Amino acid sequence: MTLWPGCRGGNSALSPSWRPSELSDPYADFTVGPRAGNGVCGVCFNFTRGYERCYSCARGELLLAAVVPISYSIGGEQLHRALVGYKWLGGEVAQRLTTELAAVLWRFLAAHERCVAAAAGVSRFELVTVVPSGERGRDAGHPLRRLVGELVRPTQARYRPVLRRSAVSVQLREVHPGKFEPLGTLRGEPVMLIDDTWTTGASARSAAAALERAGAGPVAAVVIGRHVNREWHENDRRLRALPAPFNWSRCAVCDRASDPAPAARRS
Ligand SMILES: [Zn+2]
Ligand SMILES: [Zn+2]
Repeated sequence: MTLWPGCRGGNSALSPSWRPSELSDPYADFTVGPRAGNGVCGVCFNFTRGYERCYSCARGELLLAAVVPISYSIGGEQLHRALVGYKWLGGEVAQRLTTELAAVLWRFLAAHERCVAAAAGVSRFELVTVVPSGERGRDAGHPLRRLVGELVRPTQARYRPVLRRSAVSVQLREVHPGKFEPLGTLRGEPVMLIDDTWTTGASARSAAAALERAGAGPVAAVVIGRHVNREWHENDRRLRALPAPFNWSRCAVCDRASDPAPAARRS
């Protein structure tokens, strides 16, 4: 497997000839794009039993102007294993997974960042940041920071680490405004908040609360994988009904419209 030159030397070492499609192409076989519809949560695209919002999204203040998952991350399957492995495996395997996931995010944002901005009601995102790790000790070295801040060209220049995990004790799936603390003050900038995985959304919503406290404008979350379990209720049937292979020119947001966003046509 080819290693991206930039993964060793930071953004200055990125090869101008490198194309995200090279590493993201294989992901089309196991990347499943969410689509809006009946029985799909209108916020996070979780499958529901006919409700407009899933259990988690129906509780409390949402705090996010838009949530756009690139794919479903199906428990135990390939994308899920990549999203776990890039953080936990270490060594060359983790490095390879990080570059592949960077390629997926890069290719997606190149085509659909405009869709995300439109869904959030803003013209563009001046600032891009990530949801910090839930574990304080792992936060600074979290590979998601390098992925967004160094490897993904559409985000690297706008990335800033504006949050960190606080010392406040928070339950795993609790939305808590004190879970993260701002590192500075913002001036109403719209923020694109990136995370690898959305399970209940508690981390992203807690991060959005901290960003709001810091003075951010509208916050939109882009997540690589919206976690689902194939075995739950009718999830297997519903996953099988989604378009395959993955279509890079469509996203969960622009597929709602009859005409794809102009940026999507170019991909
Ligand atoms: Zn939801
Ligand atoms: Zn789109």
